Amino acid sequence: MNKILIIEDELAIAELEKDYLELSDFQVEVETDGETGAKKALENDYDMLILDLLLPGVDGFDICRKVREKKDMPIIMVSSKNDDIDKIRGLGLGADDYITKPFSPSELVARVKAHLSRYSRLVGSNNNDNECIEIRGIMIDKTARRVFVDGQEKIFTTKEFDLLTFLAQNPNHVFTKEELFQKIWGMESVGDVATVTVHIKKIREKVERDTSKPQYIETIWGVGYRFKI
Ligand code: CA
Repeated sequence: MNKILIIEDELAIAELEKDYLELSDFQVEVETDGETGAKKALENDYDMLILDLLLPGVDGFDICRKVREKKDMPIIMVSSKNDDIDKIRGLGLGADDYITKPFSPSELVARVKAHLSRYSRLVGSNNNDNECIEIRGIMIDKTARRVFVDGQEKIFTTKEFDLLTFLAQNPNHVFTKEELFQKIWGMESVGDVATVTVHIKKIREKVERDTSKPQYIETIWGVGYRFKI
């Protein structure tokens, strides 16, 4: 049974979310205090976090960032300000989805199910035959070796495709340029690790909305790159 943590200070909303999720056979815990909730999310294993943006005393963004650094689970952020959604998205905090209050509980349940099934495909990948990787707006069809960004196909060279796929298959894992070079170019290698940098740049031009603020492939200064999930 999938276990979900809700961090929400408005108890009525939290209870409504809980009731609907339980009806869909999820196991749900509610935490109304932001700090306790964050601690819980970091110390226990949940399959998903539903996180209210505005919590007294703590910043929902902060919790999102901290949890994202340590835990590999989908995060849905709940916001009450419709207007801020674009801004929030732009911040690239690593949330998988954003939902605006008021929302219908069935919409929430639908989104929860969608994200959980996407995650299980992505993370627990050894016993399924699905050869597609979907992360936010990116869809990598491994079988056909095609990449779609927001539904639009982008043309990738062989190595660009291999590099993107390798990073996306190992989300939140930091790889050094040397490791990536070894992994993708291996024995046939002509050139050096600078090749990796050049390829990352080309991939970003195809997948990122703003290459100066990458939302997918992050540069970890002094170390290497990681694909942010
Ligand atoms: Ca709130």
